[in-house]
Amino acid sequence: MNRVIKNEFGISKKVKIILLLGVLVFFSLSVFIYVKLYTDIKKIVRRQAVDSIRNISELNADSVSRSITNRKILLDTIAARIMSKDMWSADAILRDIEGYVGTYDFYNMGVLDENMDVHLTSGDVINVAGRPQFETAWDDEFHLSESYLPVSGGEYAVNLFSYPVCRGKELKYVIIATYYSKNLTERMNISSIRGNAFNFLLSGGGDVVIYPRFYENKEYNGLMKYINYTSKIIPDESGDKYFVYNGEKYYAHFEQLGINQWHLMTCAKEREVFADANMITRSVFMGMGLLWMMIIIAVFMTLYSVYRSRMEMRQAVFYDELLHIENGNFLPVFFKKLPPEEVANMFMMTFDIDKFKEFNYIYGEESGDNLLKYIAQIFREELPTDYLFRHLSDNFVALVHCEDQKEFIEKIEKVLGRFERDIDGGKIQSFDISAGVRKMNVGDSFRRIMSDALIAKGTIKGIQVQQYAFYDENILYKRMSYMEMESDFARALRANEFRVYYQPRFDMCTGKIIGAEALVRWVKADGTIIPPGIFIPCFETSRQIILLDEAMLEAVCRQMNEMEGDGIAIKKVSVNLSRVHLKNHGILPKIEKIVKESGVNPTKLSFEITESALYEDSIPLKHIVDFLHRLGCKVDMDDYGVGVSGPNALAANQFDMIKLDKSFIDGIGDQRTEAVIKSTISLSRTLGMEILAEGVEEKYQVDSLLEWGCGLAQGFYFSPPVPEEEYRRMLVADKRK
Ligand code: C2E
Ligand code: MG
Ligand code: MG
Repeated sequence: MNRVIKNEFGISKKVKIILLLGVLVFFSLSVFIYVKLYTDIKKIVRRQAVDSIRNISELNADSVSRSITNRKILLDTIAARIMSKDMWSADAILRDIEGYVGTYDFYNMGVLDENMDVHLTSGDVINVAGRPQFETAWDDEFHLSESYLPVSGGEYAVNLFSYPVCRGKELKYVIIATYYSKNLTERMNISSIRGNAFNFLLSGGGDVVIYPRFYENKEYNGLMKYINYTSKIIPDESGDKYFVYNGEKYYAHFEQLGINQWHLMTCAKEREVFADANMITRSVFMGMGLLWMMIIIAVFMTLYSVYRSRMEMRQAVFYDELLHIENGNFLPVFFKKLPPEEVANMFMMTFDIDKFKEFNYIYGEESGDNLLKYIAQIFREELPTDYLFRHLSDNFVALVHCEDQKEFIEKIEKVLGRFERDIDGGKIQSFDISAGVRKMNVGDSFRRIMSDALIAKGTIKGIQVQQYAFYDENILYKRMSYMEMESDFARALRANEFRVYYQPRFDMCTGKIIGAEALVRWVKADGTIIPPGIFIPCFETSRQIILLDEAMLEAVCRQMNEMEGDGIAIKKVSVNLSRVHLKNHGILPKIEKIVKESGVNPTKLSFEITESALYEDSIPLKHIVDFLHRLGCKVDMDDYGVGVSGPNALAANQFDMIKLDKSFIDGIGDQRTEAVIKSTISLSRTLGMEILAEGVEEKYQVDSLLEWGCGLAQGFYFSPPVPEEEYRRMLVADKRK
């Protein structure tokens, strides 16, 4: 895709802003929905987690409490039986209770007497005086101690159940039973929060009374110690409780056990509680991410396809597929988008290939296409940062970045130099361009610049020595656009602003005038003279040339009559016929009428038809030549050598004179050109035609032409085109020679 089209027709700033806003709104909405969803889910999960912690706590407390109560009831039953049976010997009691040790999972059972001796079912008697658990046990109430390591040794902590046996009001014995704390811990086995809830049995003062499961686990142990020695466990606003330990927040629930003011605490890390919420929100997040990605891909694909089809459309309208540059349609669009700072330092150059039609005819259309491609390629290589557009056929427009005329000349000479080298090196067939250059100014309209550049081009079209011309503000005629010229034509014709100039033709041997060519000049009211190269192409396009050529012929006939009337010996005058007439024969009866009505001797008139007209499409040229001959006039082939008609066409159309084009005369000195000139001279002789050299400017050209047998010439060496009065004077002076 082309750089310039792409730059100009990418997605516009406005659309980009709308898209960005859309994405922002959509993104904010997504974030809002996500945050709302996350907080809602968190609330629900938290509620559920807190409920679940409470439930676990209740169930575990119930289980522990039932286990303790069962054993308390057992001891109560035993005590009642002792009392009812008056069993006041320790041995008798031991015999009664020993069966319960295994049944109730006790570690040990025994009887404590007033001497603080414990009689164990195993037969051992241990004195436990001074041991706090036993000191407390010697009481007439049921007690359950906190965990301690057994007096008899052993690595597992136990709790001491004690139940009094009284004889009347006298406390006689205390039945004791030790129970592994771990058994109680196992009662707190209901867990939740995926097994991450901890259970602790605490005393009324907050101390851990039953060593929990996994107490060797460092974290657990640390947490236990923290709970043991702190009172930071405070309820939060929702009535639940939480505490912070080791930088982690814990949710907790306390459940009364109904024994010893003990209570069971269940707690779980907030992180674990919200793991579920996080899992759900992560899934939601991923889902939304996926949705986002899909939306982005869909938007991107839609935008891309819109962009592609836009580009393809633009490409079709604005792009020249042959040369791979933009075409003339794109030029005004591109011009509008140029930033002023770029316009201020830019020159427009419009150019075409001289005689491109002939080039195509000689070398074939493929070579013509290759030449166009070559030009585009050289511009790309030599002026890579500038812009080239193909207008129509061989018409190009270049926009060249330059600060001043000097820089432009350097740049364009680089391109022309490249053309020259490649032509000399045989890389491409010989060609010339004619270019009009106009400096661009901020505020100038595109039409204005273009039309000025075309005017500048018109001033040099066909002049091979000059390939480009700058538009010059000071020259009136150069400022006239085609439109202005067209609309001014009728007035100028009525005001006789189109004047006949005569360029005498000479016999180089005698130096005498043999005739003249009538050349039109547009003489403005202020005296400015506009050469035909400026306005003829315009009038040919508008077909006003038909009227102009008639007017010229009329003027020539009238002036010849006047000269004759004034006693001047008139010579043959050649009048130019535009190629436009070759497509419209309406001029022929008019020529006949003008010539006959003027009464001018028709043999004193000749008509010039340019050679390149010979290969215009479907021209019955012979018809015109024959018509003019029947009228008694002569017919000259103008600009011979520029076209490609060759000797056959010459013979077929029976011209009276060949006019060797100036480009041949300029080529005198070049062997090949000289060879062509010489053979043309001999050919004209063979065909019985006169031959005249056009554009003779130098003495050496005169000498060579004479040597080769061409005696007739027209050129600045002898005389430029002159006004009628001057021509009259020249004729008079010539007579006297
Ligand atoms: P052309 O018919 O080939 O006319 C010869 C041109 O060569 C004239 O340019 C003349 O001034 C120029 N010329 C003659 N000798 C020399 C020379 O030694 N050196 C140089 N550099 N130039 C020389 P002009 O008058 O500007 O006319 C240009 C063309 O305009 C003519 O080329 C002809 O094709 C056309 N033209 C002129 N008058 C008329 C007209 O009344 N009707 C039509 N249809 N075309 C005309
Ligand atoms: Mg001529
Ligand atoms: Mg000529």
